[in-house]
Amino acid sequence: MIAVLAGGVGAARLLAGLVRVVPPSEVTAVVNTGDDVVMHGLHICPDLDTVTYTLAGADNPDTGWGLAGETWQAMGSLGRYGGETWFNLGDLDLGTHLYRTGHLAAGVGLAEVTAGITAGWGLEPTLLPMTEDRVATMMTLADGSGGGDEVGFQEYFVRLRHDVPVSSVRFDGAEASLPGPGVLDAIAGADVVVVAPSNPIVSIGPLLAVPGIADAIRARRDHTVAISPIIAGAALKGPADRLMRELGHEASVVGVARIYRDIAACLVIDSADADLAGAVEAEGMACVVTDTVMSSPEVAADLAKVVLGATS
Ligand code: GDP
Ligand code: CA
Repeated sequence: MIAVLAGGVGAARLLAGLVRVVPPSEVTAVVNTGDDVVMHGLHICPDLDTVTYTLAGADNPDTGWGLAGETWQAMGSLGRYGGETWFNLGDLDLGTHLYRTGHLAAGVGLAEVTAGITAGWGLEPTLLPMTEDRVATMMTLADGSGGGDEVGFQEYFVRLRHDVPVSSVRFDGAEASLPGPGVLDAIAGADVVVVAPSNPIVSIGPLLAVPGIADAIRARRDHTVAISPIIAGAALKGPADRLMRELGHEASVVGVARIYRDIAACLVIDSADADLAGAVEAEGMACVVTDTVMSSPEVAADLAKVVLGATS
């Protein structure tokens, strides 16, 4: 069994490669829910949906999120009433949120609802929400841009286009949350635990803030491999490098190593950072250098093979 700690796009790409090199039913992803948001009364889980749609081969290549072949008529209708439309929800995607919200309202847990959604797409890997409790990633804006205001993650990421400096991040509700059903067993029982190339602060951070999850991974440290989302000092996409700098980390593979060295024995870094392998090792992690830009599922599969070989 392989357990993958997952955010959105980077993790989805890795998982799409991983299922090409191991039987898909042996893959379990523990997915961030700190990005979840309730819009118009609908419960939206962006990272779970990104992973689901990508594994189904139904992801939208034009937007980088949501479903292929999407239309936006419901948003137009909502706009007519003056409804909030900054968080775009496509017509096809809305079906997922209706299913999830209806079942949650009827008392079904998020793990079971997620299993219903992945079954609907015919997926063999297991996707587990990190928790079934409400954990909300909250960002405090730095002085000068709404200075001191605290906003929810989607307000920062989508409405403000993550174009504002942040002075702190916290995971509201995390202290009182429990790991989702199956999460601790998936980590404890995995031959390899993979920390996907996801945002270390706002995608993997919430996972590690759920009491019990970080300890479970630490107990498996020798079998845990992380993949750096930072390549040549920058994120491929999104605010990971900026957030790391703003919160006092070095935006480099060495900065990533300092964040992950307690939970992972090995860091996989891109060939572009080969000259930093020694500096990563000096932080107490083994370091493997390979191509990590997953431009296709084939490249992702090659990366997955390297990752699985890294702990043996
Ligand atoms: P989300 O999709 O917004 O939830 O964001 P993620 O948690 O997936 O994190 C995005 C991070 O993944 C960024 O820092 C990217 O640099 C990284 N990422 C995305 N695709 C790849 C890839 O192909 N290779 C590597 N190494 N990192 C990637
Ligand atoms: Ca995300």
